[in-house]
Amino acid sequence: MKTAEIFAIGDELLIGRTLETNAHRLAQGLYARGMRLRQVRVIPDEAPAIRRCLEECTADLAITTGGLGATRDDCTRQTLAQWLGVTLVQHPEALARMQTYYARRNRPLNPISEQMSFVPQGAEVLLSDVGAAPGLRIDRPAGGVLFVLPGVPWEVDHLAERYLWPWLEAHGTGGHVEQRVLRTVGAPESKLAALLAPLEDRLPPDLKLAYNPSLSSLDLRLVLHTAREDWPLRQPQYEALWAELQERVGPYIYGTGDDRLEGVLGDQLATRGLRIALAESCTGGALAARLVSVAGASAWVAGGVVAYSNELKMELLDVPQELLREHGAVSEPVARAMAEGVRQRLGADLGLSTTGIAGPDGGTPTKPVGTVWMACAGAEGTMARHHLFERDRSRNIERSVVAALDLLRLYLTGVRPE
Ligand code: AMP
Ligand code: MG
Repeated sequence: MKTAEIFAIGDELLIGRTLETNAHRLAQGLYARGMRLRQVRVIPDEAPAIRRCLEECTADLAITTGGLGATRDDCTRQTLAQWLGVTLVQHPEALARMQTYYARRNRPLNPISEQMSFVPQGAEVLLSDVGAAPGLRIDRPAGGVLFVLPGVPWEVDHLAERYLWPWLEAHGTGGHVEQRVLRTVGAPESKLAALLAPLEDRLPPDLKLAYNPSLSSLDLRLVLHTAREDWPLRQPQYEALWAELQERVGPYIYGTGDDRLEGVLGDQLATRGLRIALAESCTGGALAARLVSVAGASAWVAGGVVAYSNELKMELLDVPQELLREHGAVSEPVARAMAEGVRQRLGADLGLSTTGIAGPDGGTPTKPVGTVWMACAGAEGTMARHHLFERDRSRNIERSVVAALDLLRLYLTGVRPE
């Protein structure tokens, strides 16, 4: 399996001004293509540091990002030329691109910017459509290849798509990575781990099952890293485990790959011709915002009401005053009444509500901070759920949104009021 190393060059990365993200995204691309990334080094815009990395690198593929600008703090091109023992020569096509780039932005191409069209002699120039600085591909004197990319993240991505990935695919990485993601919601890690224990007991050492939790999803990633020629032999085993994984986790799965919960729900609502209305208290509109973040949401979202005060819960959602007085705003009966009320008042097929104590203050012994009730009302009745989250306000809001979407998911999959 071929190896790679990444050197992220830039003073700004080492003083905490800019978060290093280039290596992060390049690592994903390398990994997906079966390359083994051995290390990432973050180094300053200093010739000795850059040289040291290049001299010490023994990987098949070296990638640098950053330091290709025209200002004096950037020194990657000059350092490369010195290291290779060649001069910097002007590249006519890079210059022409740069002239167009600046003309389109109504900016003069001054001699300082023009510096960026000078490249180490013998380097292949990687022309960019999205930035002024071209990248470079260089055969390293001691063997292996070097891709020199700019620092700006979208310029890196553009040149990687246009030159780096095609080059890797053409030259082969020797490896094959099969990775599929199962997206789940509603079950904690420990629950999934218990369901999957029998499968994990039988996993061969090079087949890994990773748990990647976030606030909105718990992703299960089944990964096989193998030599390219071995993949056809291993594929049946992988497929069988992938099928078993789905069978074991069944009711908690909402999608695969990059599926988003709100997108999957939107599709289901659209397919059935159902429209939903939201009645939000503790989520303050975040639930509606999440649902309408999906393109085409007008087909399944009727609208929503943010009823934060008791008065508005009564006035806009027809929540009976006795319920509020007897049970309090954060309670099962009020969550139910909100969902039913919004469904009725907005003339929707479904109503979805949230009411809770987002915190960090406002809790009581019987209703601690993080207590959230939610309900989903529809033609087949109303289903309510209780959750106890934590003290952090923004995380509680996010968790409530996801839990409400999960409640809707259950309602749509046919789970009915107990
Ligand atoms: P440079 O071409 O090296 O001057 O980089 C231009 C800009 O790109 C820097 O000012 C940073 O904002 C950004 N940048 C450079 N390197 C990185 C990196 N590794 N990750 C994220 N952003 C970066
Ligand atoms: Mg820089």
